[in-house]
Amino acid sequence: MHTTMNSIVDSNYQHPKVEWDSEQSAKLYGVREWGADCFDISPEGNAVVSIQFGDKTVQVSLIDIVEGMKERGLEMPAVLRIENLLDLRIKQLNEAFARAIELGGYQNHYRGVFPIKVNQQCHVIEEIADFGKHYHHGLEAGSKAELIIALSQLQDHESLIICNGYKDAEFIDLGLYARKMGIKCFFVLETLSELPIIIERSRILGIEPLIGVRIRLASMVEGHWNEDSGDRSIFGLSTNALLEVLEQLKEADMLHCLQLLHSHLGSQIPNIRNIRTGVLEACRFYTGLIEEGAPMGYIDIGGGLAVDYEGTQTNSTHSMNYGLDEYCSNIIETILESLDPLDIAHPVIISESGRALVAYSSMLLFNVLDVRDHKPGVIPDTAPTDSVDQIVNLYDVLKNVNQKRLQECYNDALYYRDEVRELFHRGQASLRERALAENLSLAILEKIALLLPEAKRISPELETLPVLLSDIYYGNFSLFQSLPDIWAIDQIFPIMPIHRLNEEPTRDAVLADMTCDCDGKIDSFSLVDGPSKTLPLHPLLKDEEYYLGVFLVGAYQETLGDLHNLFGDTNVVSVRVNEDGSFDFIREFHGDSIADVLSYVEYDPKTMQEQFRRIAEQAVRDGKITVAMRQQVLHAFHESLHGYTFFER
Ligand SMILES: *Cc1c(COP(=O)(O)O)cnc(C)c1O
Repeated sequence: MHTTMNSIVDSNYQHPKVEWDSEQSAKLYGVREWGADCFDISPEGNAVVSIQFGDKTVQVSLIDIVEGMKERGLEMPAVLRIENLLDLRIKQLNEAFARAIELGGYQNHYRGVFPIKVNQQCHVIEEIADFGKHYHHGLEAGSKAELIIALSQLQDHESLIICNGYKDAEFIDLGLYARKMGIKCFFVLETLSELPIIIERSRILGIEPLIGVRIRLASMVEGHWNEDSGDRSIFGLSTNALLEVLEQLKEADMLHCLQLLHSHLGSQIPNIRNIRTGVLEACRFYTGLIEEGAPMGYIDIGGGLAVDYEGTQTNSTHSMNYGLDEYCSNIIETILESLDPLDIAHPVIISESGRALVAYSSMLLFNVLDVRDHKPGVIPDTAPTDSVDQIVNLYDVLKNVNQKRLQECYNDALYYRDEVRELFHRGQASLRERALAENLSLAILEKIALLLPEAKRISPELETLPVLLSDIYYGNFSLFQSLPDIWAIDQIFPIMPIHRLNEEPTRDAVLADMTCDCDGKIDSFSLVDGPSKTLPLHPLLKDEEYYLGVFLVGAYQETLGDLHNLFGDTNVVSVRVNEDGSFDFIREFHGDSIADVLSYVEYDPKTMQEQFRRIAEQAVRDGKITVAMRQQVLHAFHESLHGYTFFER
């Protein structure tokens, strides 16, 4: 994609006269639906984060935090993490399970483990380990690197470490040493081939492992990740392989090490019925293993607890038709119903919620750099003399747009416009005539769009007209770096301005990022009236930044991001809100410099500087620049090399 950006700041723009308040914005953007009481809009029109201290709710404006970031030299775009929200979600999950256990009369406890892959950032893991200690919240590791993180971060020996993924001897040794030190570290078998290595290393080191088996559930789920379950899932043991595990463990006299059953239906499961079915099937495996003589004692139901990104409370892919309490009580009830008739002792319940734990705590903030609107340019009142017939016809159509002839006018507008373009190709129409034809055609489409809401029946092409006429807001971010799931799986995140929310948003827009890639756009939103291809936004004001927030981005986005167009990591800021309404910048990370991202793709910034110096020196020798100019040029090169990869004002 290549676009020329017109300068569009409308200097004549007046604040709209229409009555509009922040309540209307709250409704339009659905913040009370997706915000889970963590986000709201203040009467002054600012997006706020809400933190509960006992009975007291403290609200902090995001725009105030942005101001604080600016003062600290932290430019947009930036990921803002609110520590309190991370703590809140850990608390809510653990307390919801505790309530369900109490209510159901369940005779064991819950242990959560956070899957490190969902957000590996050091600060996130440290906070989970630290705040989670109180609930013995542990970590799930899917690789050696993640096990190393878990071993170094978890200080509480009641917390569990669950090791999934393929494990080599080195991985297994590390886990066995952890066992020796009293850490509750489970190896979950994903494949049969891991077992002989575990048995052998355990013999050699003389340390008994805790073993779990990951089963492949036949229950299929709805939602995006449905291939994690079912017969064709690439994860977990088939029923037959499970029997083989039992044989090998018996033979090695290690059946008593098999204590955990693991299943994971997939991520973001929108329908509670699927969760129930999955847990039920897992319970059948659990009882089956007990019948085979394994001691068991732990049931791990994996991840899948969803986040309502749309705020619709439905079973659509980006939503969920259940709440946290319902999730927990459904799991507890299902286990009770399956195990009690068989008199099987209640196992420790483990869940590996990732998304639901961290999504809320992070948001991406960015400023809008430019807007390309689709307004027609100046159109003279009448057709200039000697105009080609098609232009005269377009004037006619423009005058006669009415409710009864919408489709006809639409067809004519495009037909005559294309004819003028054709004449232009053949050298029979001038640049000015082509521009006038395009302006007229746009003006006709605009008139049609205004009449659409009252139209009785609309053709599919007329339906897309509002998108065709919408503005493009160019945001200072890279979709591929900061919101990879929008590109990869059409994820929907809540997006809204973080200020000016007591003004009516009068423009309809799609968002484009800085990568100049046609995939680098956002044109799918969830609004009060349902899914929308455009987002209502405010016109840009002269000399004033316009900030947008993309919310609930704490899960999976930060490390899946790539270096498309060599835009690097953004700045990251962690803030803690205090009871008196103040806030502290707990951590700040400056994002990648250009030198950083270049070295990721094997360039050596020092060599580059030297190569450029030689070019500048040659220019001096050739008399093209002075020595003073050379210094200036080299300085500019150096500054750019060590600056932020995003747009800097
Ligand atoms: C990814 C993953 C999770 C996390 O799932 P969420 O839906 O984010 O809670 C848990 N367990 C396993 C095995 C996973 O692969």
